[in-house]
Amino acid sequence: MIAATDLKELARSCGADLTGIASARSFDFLPPESNPRFIQPQARSVIVLGFRIPRGALRGVEEGTAWQTMAGATPFPTAAICVETTYRLARYLESEGWETVPLFAHSSDLQHQGVAVSPDKPEPNVILPMDIAAHAAGLGEIGRGRFFLTPEFGPRQLFTALVTDLELEPDKIFSGKLCDGCGLCARACPAKALEMERLLSFPLARGKARCYRLHLESCRICRTGILNAPYSSQGEPLRIAAACGRACVAHLEDSGRLKSSFSYPFREKKSQPRRRKSVNQ
Ligand code: SF4
Ligand code: SF4
Repeated sequence: MIAATDLKELARSCGADLTGIASARSFDFLPPESNPRFIQPQARSVIVLGFRIPRGALRGVEEGTAWQTMAGATPFPTAAICVETTYRLARYLESEGWETVPLFAHSSDLQHQGVAVSPDKPEPNVILPMDIAAHAAGLGEIGRGRFFLTPEFGPRQLFTALVTDLELEPDKIFSGKLCDGCGLCARACPAKALEMERLLSFPLARGKARCYRLHLESCRICRTGILNAPYSSQGEPLRIAAACGRACVAHLEDSGRLKSSFSYPFREKKSQPRRRKSVNQ
């Protein structure tokens, strides 16, 4: 048997910044096309791994000087460590005799792409929403702006998951409070794609997430720093570097809610305008 603490230490040494564990049964509230037990019926645990996106990867977008989308700065190095760490852990667990399915973030519009192999099974693909998995694994909460927020990095991370027949001690659901409903993410959106007046709710392993209604059609053509989801034209883009995501990063850091800290604030206060050089200097 492998202890949860030993597995987390191994994940950390392999490159994961965050590791949380959920019981596979905690996803039974999800429909078959999202439920990991329709991928691996004998699954007992879902291990969720988080990988920080460096704050510096947002810098050029924030300054308007580089990388209109975050693609040039972040996802490839971050995605490489996600893939490598997730596969290394899957290989380790299987070498110990526990079958393990590595899962990566995909958009839900890739569900229902094929033919069900039997009437009791969903059509491929079964896609586990990573924010719901990260919540069930105790890693944080879903904020009003539909970002998954962790106490360590706010919205700045990517998640992968390992579905396994190894029984592990699950983590408790996160009980802190990160999102204060400030609305700054919505107000930062030039397209008004986040509707503060309309809160939508959806179920979680425990309780419900309550988020502003999001008009995805605006986000898909947003020019403030999105990254489109791989293989998907209709899914939700990665919005962390977009105007909404950067507003949330700045707010959570300024309000002192995050464990990670930096020598200088992410965003200079409007009351402290930058000193501009005179053309004669
Ligand atoms: S900007 Fe404010 S309302 Fe939006 S997700 Fe972040 S903390 Fe919540
Ligand atoms: S991704 Fe762009 S359009 Fe969508 S909410 Fe964020 S800023 Fe607005």
